[in-house]
Amino acid sequence: MPAENIVCVKCTSVLDKSMIADVEVDLCPKCGGLWLDKGEITKLAAMADPELGDLRAALVGKSGPPPVPSETKQNCPACPGSLKEVVLGPVHVDYCGKCHGIFLDRGELDEAVVAVRAKGPKQVLAVAAKAAQAS
Ligand SMILES: [Zn+2]
Ligand SMILES: [Zn+2]
Repeated sequence: MPAENIVCVKCTSVLDKSMIADVEVDLCPKCGGLWLDKGEITKLAAMADPELGDLRAALVGKSGPPPVPSETKQNCPACPGSLKEVVLGPVHVDYCGKCHGIFLDRGELDEAVVAVRAKGPKQVLAVAAKAAQAS
């Protein structure tokens, strides 16, 4: 089960829960990061653009410092696992191999959604899961 309060991987603010259609996502109020529990990227990719627009609007205007690239191993905000940087289409995202959550930096949402739509969620997530297991 996801933790009650998920803390931003990049800036340690407590994330705000936000409903986008029937998906509850966790947004960072400070840096615009986005935490997606397992399967949520698939649901977002399946949404029509007007619905996704709500999420974009929620992310726009966050004006924290630009996310710092993660070089060290990061703990998963939702489980005792750790995050690994994996390639999701054109973007690098932080992926938890244990609970299969994904952390997207501000601006990565659209590209991740496009990649999932283009290749199919199974394909994209299988690659991410494999990369997270490696090393
Ligand atoms: Zn943040
Ligand atoms: Zn996790």
